[in-house]
Amino acid sequence: MIIGIIGLIVAFALVVIFRNPATRNCRWREDRRRDKDGLRFYRCVNCGAEVWDSPKHSPKTCHNPDKKGTS
Ligand SMILES: [Zn+2]
Repeated sequence: MIIGIIGLIVAFALVVIFRNPATRNCRWREDRRRDKDGLRFYRCVNCGAEVWDSPKHSPKTCHNPDKKGTS
């Protein structure tokens, strides 16, 4: 019983850690004029990060180096 509760708490903590709120706030805008090598250009309007990623989906994580190590 106790072990089950501890397991739930650990699982919840892992979910929180891997769902960094700083990266969830990124709002990607695509700019097809800057596509290259079959990759779509995306720019985050929240933090200004610029990345090239698959045209099928916007990036899931924030690539802005300024945000590294901060939370
Ligand atoms: Zn961002």
